[in-house]
Amino acid sequence: MDALEILKQLIAIPSVSPMGRDLTGPEYYETRLTEFLAGFFKDLGVEYEVIDVVPGRSNVVAIYRADKNAPTILMDAHQDTVPVDGMTIDPFDPVVKDGRIYGRGACDVKGGMAAMLSAFSRLVKENPDNANNVVMSCTCDEEATVMGIKDLVKLWSDGENRSQMLGKRPDVSIVAEPTEMDLVVAHRGATRWKIFTSGVACHSSDPTKGVNAIYRMAKILSALEEYADMLDSLVKPHSRCGSATLSIGLISGGISVNTVPDTCEIEVDRRVIPGEDGLQVMEDVREFLKQRVDFDFEFSEPWIIGTALPDDTNDDLGNNLLKQINAVTGGGVKVGVPYGTHASRIAEADVPPVVFGPGSVAQAHTKDEWLDIGQLEQATEVYYQACCDNGLAAAT
Ligand SMILES: [Zn+2]
Repeated sequence: MDALEILKQLIAIPSVSPMGRDLTGPEYYETRLTEFLAGFFKDLGVEYEVIDVVPGRSNVVAIYRADKNAPTILMDAHQDTVPVDGMTIDPFDPVVKDGRIYGRGACDVKGGMAAMLSAFSRLVKENPDNANNVVMSCTCDEEATVMGIKDLVKLWSDGENRSQMLGKRPDVSIVAEPTEMDLVVAHRGATRWKIFTSGVACHSSDPTKGVNAIYRMAKILSALEEYADMLDSLVKPHSRCGSATLSIGLISGGISVNTVPDTCEIEVDRRVIPGEDGLQVMEDVREFLKQRVDFDFEFSEPWIIGTALPDDTNDDLGNNLLKQINAVTGGGVKVGVPYGTHASRIAEADVPPVVFGPGSVAQAHTKDEWLDIGQLEQATEVYYQACCDNGLAAAT
């Protein structure tokens, strides 16, 4: 089945992540896409499972069985997209124009998913000699809290044997994300949490009677800005992924202009590089702040704990896949990127992963998201060739 035709169908089925906001409606969450994917694998005649992660949110997993002695590749693509607020095109109308296809998810990552599904269906139909066993996973909740991939890796790592397809650890994995046809072998991860300050509320006509939680947060913010500037000297930048960073993305506090505020909170985004511990980085920030401010503050639990993808276990897989990429595109190099993907969670579960897919991250999450159709077709061919090569997991 043609990747472009599949992609049009995927774009037309909204699977928007509310990203933590309290939103409901037919376009939110992955339910309808999950149903489509289950139908896709059913029509293909392969074994598949719909695995509930939490009520209403599921991973869909399907398998092509080549030979029980052949290595197993896990191909993963996420089902969800970011929200569509402010988009200048109809997000769910897949328009093809000038060699591009437009729509929410065209680039991140319904394009990569369509390419994988197309390669997978060709594999099932052609049944080539010397192929790998291939597990295709379509995971939920990548954009917000990554519970889909966390549940998926448990299928082989926690011994509960909940899956016929991933009861055994796969040998290698390819994760679809827009890499502009280069091969991502290392990336950063993100730990995110809130910091709270508190004070004493009072009428603003006499602020001396209160304690202003926003002023306290201002002191925290100045200290954090200083800390962010120091990070390069505290954590040696990674050769492929660059620096560890810290950024504050949200702030809120107070109830009205004539009340001295008794609460203020911020959200912190700390990007970790390979070698860093996603929980320890929070403790380092806490220690730093304790030295800098003379009042109490609180940390929330992190809602995401960063894991980076290190490039020390996926060398052979990377070299092998790079040959397939070179053969199809005439280019392609190993790179590291600053953003996170499912690959780091797969690596944590002892499977070497790489990230590869059509499209540029520059077009992901944009108001007129699009994908280059030439790259979509080339990526489909690369995925197919990778599925067919049972030496993909071998040492180079
Ligand atoms: Zn993505």
